[in-house]
Amino acid sequence: MTQNPPDLRPDLARARVTDAPRPGQPTIGMVSLGCPKALVDSERILTRLRAEGYAISADYAGAEAVIVNTCGFLDSAKAESLDAIGEALTENGRVIVTGCLGAEPDYIREHHPKILAVTGPQQYEQVLDAVHLAVPPAPDPFIDLLPARGVSLTPRHYSYLKISEGCNHKCKFCIIPDMRGKLASRPAHAVLREAEKLVEAGVRELLVISQDTSAYGLDRRYDLNPWKGGEVRSHITDLARELGQLGAWVRMHYVYPYPHVRDLIPLMADPASGVLPYLDIPFQHSHPDVLRRMARPAAGSKTLEEIAAWRAICPDITLRSTFIVGYPGETEAEFQHLLDWLDEAQLDRVGCFQYENVAGARSNALPDHVAPEVKQDRWDRFMAKAQAISAAKLEAKVGRTLEVIVDDIDADGVATCRTWADAPEIDGNLFIDEDTTGLSVGDIVKVAVDEASEYDLWGTLRR
Ligand code: SF4
Repeated sequence: MTQNPPDLRPDLARARVTDAPRPGQPTIGMVSLGCPKALVDSERILTRLRAEGYAISADYAGAEAVIVNTCGFLDSAKAESLDAIGEALTENGRVIVTGCLGAEPDYIREHHPKILAVTGPQQYEQVLDAVHLAVPPAPDPFIDLLPARGVSLTPRHYSYLKISEGCNHKCKFCIIPDMRGKLASRPAHAVLREAEKLVEAGVRELLVISQDTSAYGLDRRYDLNPWKGGEVRSHITDLARELGQLGAWVRMHYVYPYPHVRDLIPLMADPASGVLPYLDIPFQHSHPDVLRRMARPAAGSKTLEEIAAWRAICPDITLRSTFIVGYPGETEAEFQHLLDWLDEAQLDRVGCFQYENVAGARSNALPDHVAPEVKQDRWDRFMAKAQAISAAKLEAKVGRTLEVIVDDIDADGVATCRTWADAPEIDGNLFIDEDTTGLSVGDIVKVAVDEASEYDLWGTLRR
């Protein structure tokens, strides 16, 4: 099995949260593995537990039981999840497993028979039941008031906003539809209400996530929902428009290149809309035969023409994507097609995975698997090209003044920020080394860009 480099794997967003308990307060630990979508699930579980009077422990020793929210997307992620469960068992001994790998309880119990309970993805009630059994609640209505924005694993100034769960597609390399089921969209007013609360609680950036963001509302037949005295459709264009009115940056992730995505671009071109000119769009490959073998949605679309059309409407749009190299049967000519496509597409940010078999995926049975050294060679060549494009794109920003959001300020006063072109955790940063007095985390400020590297920028605060 080939391991992708840790910084390029979606399953490594690992986070722990802290919350000092009062004496006698029931206390739970949480280890959250997996992608931002899993992180949102962890946040929901913790929000409920916190609302019920539980404290959240920062370490194993302080917890009466530990929830491990697992990832089961790649075999390497499964192995990591099993390791995390093993570690929690050794360090604490009382472990409840949930998340994607929870869809395979026998597999988990085979490796770790001593776990207290296993629940699958999105089975919030079952996780809570398991926690209640393991560590009974002891609520104190005068103390355990739910914070306005719930408990969050992400910094206070940005938050993920999950708009739907599941997926109607059947990409051959992916087992998410088996684990998470078919597309189930949240009603638009429920999403908007959550977003509004987040913004009221200080969130400055909303990161819209789902398995297939552009399909949002399809399962609800784009129904109308009451909102602010009028109605809003459960459709991605309408949802984005309304989210943009809340006063925070709105960033769209996991958008597929369906034709109606074009309707989002005028919003992105209008700075007053609040919707950032940023599209995270997982192309995975360029060659139509590879895309067909992957059974990708929109495999037949002319993506270069689409990209040109988006840029004609919104020249400043930032495009991020992910790709798989070494998919079964990928020929040198097909890979070269991808390199040439990338040359032409000039994407701003890309991630690249070497194909891995995943237990249960239909692609495992495809003929002509690519040798590990060939995959590595293609990955190196792809990343070299992507890096060169990224460096040139960032160099072109030197001399411009850009809006940035402040993520962190260290003890030396160096501010780590992101421009609107950079999503947290997956894209680059802009650093301000000097003259940051008065700056706070979450501020959105203007910065003159002085320097660029392959992935990051440096700049001076505009006062
Ligand atoms: S679109 Fe394909 S890769 Fe994405 S979740 Fe659905 S099946 Fe998986």
